[in-house]
Amino acid sequence: MKFVLASNNENKLREMRGLLAGEGIELVSQRRAGCDFSVEETGASFEENAYLKASAVTRATGLPAVADDSGLMVEALDGAPGIYSARYTGSHEDTDAARTAFLLEKLAGETNRAAKFSCAICCTFPNGDVLRAYAECPGSILTAPRGDGGFGYDPVFLPQGMEKSMAELSESEKNGISHRGRAMRKFVEELRKHNADE
Ligand code: IMP
Repeated sequence: MKFVLASNNENKLREMRGLLAGEGIELVSQRRAGCDFSVEETGASFEENAYLKASAVTRATGLPAVADDSGLMVEALDGAPGIYSARYTGSHEDTDAARTAFLLEKLAGETNRAAKFSCAICCTFPNGDVLRAYAECPGSILTAPRGDGGFGYDPVFLPQGMEKSMAELSESEKNGISHRGRAMRKFVEELRKHNADE
């Protein structure tokens, strides 16, 4: 069955394809499905933004769409950057390295480094059905970047109980513990129930 990922983020596409392997799902990017637009993330939560993205793509394509809205929440910054993680510096166009440097600057001298990644998955179907899943990955913010795997804030995120940064993990190690991996496994359970009810 063909699902559209309501995103053009190649990193998310790669991780999510790996997480859906064996489910009989062909996951294609929004661009490949012919959706040449980006949805304004005007929601007040990860869940609302995931729904906005998935439902816009289902409306445009007539296909089931999966959206991930995710981000980093830092305790000492009252949960920032949160839903603004992709545009923390004020611009979507900045690089991951620029956003990471901006975060480290904000936390300079801060001893409370506690943080978590959050991920909301939403899947919308042409008949109006909606499936949702949410998960978090707790950890802390390092004082300098480490590793070159993953994307986004991975080089400065130390998952709880681990000695490697998220960017020093292999993709399958990251998927095993990450917010997206956990949320996608919950989503796959929901999807199996949904398919069994059809
Ligand atoms: P979204 O595309 O609006 O969901 O933005 C998500 C943003 O949160 C990304 O651009 C990254 O900055 C950050 N983010 C989400 N998931 C991850 C991850 O797995 N590792 C590192 N950063 C992430």
